[in-house]
Amino acid sequence: MEIDDINTVAVLGAGNMGHGIAEVAAMAGYDVNLRDINEEFVQDGYEQIEWSLNKLAENDQLSQEAADDALDRITPLVDMEEACGSADVVIEAVPEKMEIKKDVYSELEDVAPDNAIFATNTSSLSITDLADVTERPGQFCGMHFFNPPVRMPLVEVISGAETDEETLDGIEALAEDFDKSPVRVHKDSPGFIVNRILVPLMNEACWLVETDEATIAEVDSTTKYEMGLPMGSFELGDQVGNDVSYHVLEYMHEVLGDAYEPCPLLERKVKNEELGKKTGKGFYDYEDGDGADIPTDEASELVEKRLVATMANEAAKLIGGDVAPPESIDEATKLGAGFPDGPVKLADEFGLENALEALEDAYEATGHERYEPADYLAERASEGGFYESGEDGDGDLEFDAIRIEYPGEMVGHIVLDRPHRMNTISEGLLDELEDAIELLEDDDEVRSILLTGEGDRAFSAGADVQSMAAGGADPVATTELSKRGQDIFGALESCEMPVVAGIDGYCLGGGMELSMCADLRVASDRSEFGQPELDLGLIPGWGGTQRLSAIVGEGRAKEIILTADRFEAETMETYGFVNEVVDGEELEERALELATELAGGPPIAHRYAKRAMLAGRDDTDAGLAYESSAFGQLMATDDLMEGITAFMGDGEPEFEGK
Ligand code: NAD
Repeated sequence: MEIDDINTVAVLGAGNMGHGIAEVAAMAGYDVNLRDINEEFVQDGYEQIEWSLNKLAENDQLSQEAADDALDRITPLVDMEEACGSADVVIEAVPEKMEIKKDVYSELEDVAPDNAIFATNTSSLSITDLADVTERPGQFCGMHFFNPPVRMPLVEVISGAETDEETLDGIEALAEDFDKSPVRVHKDSPGFIVNRILVPLMNEACWLVETDEATIAEVDSTTKYEMGLPMGSFELGDQVGNDVSYHVLEYMHEVLGDAYEPCPLLERKVKNEELGKKTGKGFYDYEDGDGADIPTDEASELVEKRLVATMANEAAKLIGGDVAPPESIDEATKLGAGFPDGPVKLADEFGLENALEALEDAYEATGHERYEPADYLAERASEGGFYESGEDGDGDLEFDAIRIEYPGEMVGHIVLDRPHRMNTISEGLLDELEDAIELLEDDDEVRSILLTGEGDRAFSAGADVQSMAAGGADPVATTELSKRGQDIFGALESCEMPVVAGIDGYCLGGGMELSMCADLRVASDRSEFGQPELDLGLIPGWGGTQRLSAIVGEGRAKEIILTADRFEAETMETYGFVNEVVDGEELEERALELATELAGGPPIAHRYAKRAMLAGRDDTDAGLAYESSAFGQLMATDDLMEGITAFMGDGEPEFEGK
């Protein structure tokens, strides 16, 4: 089915997931029939959607009109035929019980149109077994959303044994239309990708404690502060619910064998109803205790080795078994579990030889199947890693709008290389910048980044307005462009090594926003700074409304943004934006000197210092979300046209507020 043929989506089950999926579909413009088994349940789901849409509107993540329209598109129903009789796609989110789901599918098969696609949101049941209940296994696949669907970007799209390629393409396109990021899972294998990595990780964390090899504090300190995962293993387990991890594990145990035997510690937690946050107590006590209070300094080498080895072994089974390639595993885990780097990349960085050795040692000592290394792990270990060398999912990189140089000891130098266009930032340059940051971050020989613009006229004079205007005034596309720039600049800001910007000449608009993501800024005395967007009837759209305040304070940031004036380098030094002003001839040398000095510093301490400082900022994400949607809205205003016309003709704009 082509995406254009999908108009009506039926969602079965108005519970936790079902109501969220219905909301996402309605926001994307689909007519949604939401069905549950009685009036009360379906109404309950509908009211939760109403609440959530209004909340989004209150937070300016959606206009009130768009929220009302989305709600209007949803019809709460109890009658199966009414709900599904004209559906193009049916997404099923009823309880995770094979018997219930089978009943639902046989009932559904009687009423749904022949060409409708069935997609199940199951977390663990076999897609192939479910498809077998229907008469359309080719038009059946998994569409696994994460909780809560409104906020989580990942959707795993899972092929059953008989799913047609066309069905998978259609559901992937639908997920994209829902503004989600689909990742394809080529085989129907327990846990799919994200749970297949996370649940055995949780189980191994339990085994480490059960066998007295480590304490809960050591495991979580290692996971969070040494491996850099967003939460400690036990902290995450408590968040997900120990019963949920346990049930997925039981299913893996049943299908995949004893390597997935649930650890008795986890079993006891479930028996004692210590399920985690939702029951007030799990591995941590959330009612009478302090919750997950994780020490920063109890990391253990053994724990890291075991946990990385466990993830490496699962990744090897997924890749070797053709369930998913390395890039998909990393992408899914980053999107679905918030890992800063995916498990495949983590394992490669740790060294597959080391991971293999950890498994072999533990296997020899215990004989437990969970430590038996996958054949594919041994194979890749002898090749040096899962990814082909230098590839890391990016393939061969070629740069055009930027250059990468290696001018000094451990410094990676990114040069914005469009001097004929004052190093303005085009979409192509953004793409290359993203690759360049990743490339330098992955390079063990690089310990700091230097960022400059080619030539002496501009560091960067801003966004390439011409190339972007060619995209038209579509608010959705420009909101996306704003988000993309925010993210890529954000990758530089959160890059784990120090970044120095060497600024010579104009540093305006998007160029100045890029420089905000460096840790230190050194500028030539002839440089000029400014955020001219408001002169065009726009606002800074690549992070400027948030990041500038963090550097110069809100008062100065407002002065710079609201006046849209130009500022001299020396003024910007007194404002605290520029760390050092030097003579134009000396700029490059001094900037390199600073970058080299920083490259000689302690990499781990640099990483932690940067992470901590960034983590401590206020809720920037809400600010960024607001910024990009506002940026998109502004694209469609008359004032923007007025601003651009005046800018091109060198005249004074007359804004009318329209
Ligand atoms: P839930 O219990 O909150 O909701 C299920 C809903 O389905 C209930 O409202 C129930 O009344 C309804 N229902 C039962 N029989 C029905 C039928 N015949 N027709 C229509 N509705 C029916 O469960 P949930 O957490 O939303 O989970 C639903 C599915 O999503 C499960 O397969 C689960 O594995 C999966 N899932 C859950 C999560 C999660 O974090 N909760 C995440 C991803 C996937």
